[in-house]
Amino acid sequence: MGFNRKHLLGFLAVLLWVGVAAGEAIPTRITVLVNDSAGVPAEVLRQAEQEAARIFRPAGVEVSWMNCSEEAVIEGGACREVPGANRFVLHIVPTGKTSTDFVFGVAFLGEDGRGKYCNVFFDRIRDGHRDLGTSTAQLLGTVAAHEVGHLLLGSHSHSRLGIMEPVWKEEAMRQTGMGTFLFTAEQGVVMRERIGREEMVLAVWGNETQWSGDSR
Ligand SMILES: [Zn+2]
Repeated sequence: MGFNRKHLLGFLAVLLWVGVAAGEAIPTRITVLVNDSAGVPAEVLRQAEQEAARIFRPAGVEVSWMNCSEEAVIEGGACREVPGANRFVLHIVPTGKTSTDFVFGVAFLGEDGRGKYCNVFFDRIRDGHRDLGTSTAQLLGTVAAHEVGHLLLGSHSHSRLGIMEPVWKEEAMRQTGMGTFLFTAEQGVVMRERIGREEMVLAVWGNETQWSGDSR
């Protein structure tokens, strides 16, 4: 039996599947489309994106950002399309509409625990960062990581420790300042598995013709 391209693809897929099943730290990447309706200063947004990416990195998740206000992104049309595999939308809205002032954002999950869209409330972040002893950019980045975390972790994903704590106090922001307010190791495994599964679906259906024959 020759080791042709089809076999090689199958072999790579098995490797990927085994890796995903074992929860190994296969490098995983998500893209977050940022739709800013709050007019966040460019430098604050850039720092916030860096902060959120820094929070995801120890969990084995690399984040690419696409700002929907940038010319090249507008021309590419990504922000007008339904987000595809491992793409999520972060909407920065000017005013929070939920009942309590302490809510900084919300993630929209379906009954199956899946979701693509989350909102962060810029007025509450801008007004609340001093109380928590942090900068606007740092709090915006931390809230963004928490909400995108909900999209990757599914329903009931708050935890007693780390960035998925439901309520943040000064201690959380002290940890943020030290770079230790992060996802737990278990949350990292769940997120990487989820990302790996979406990549597999993309690999199989995106290259359908290459898969005919051997797979049946
Ligand atoms: Zn939450």
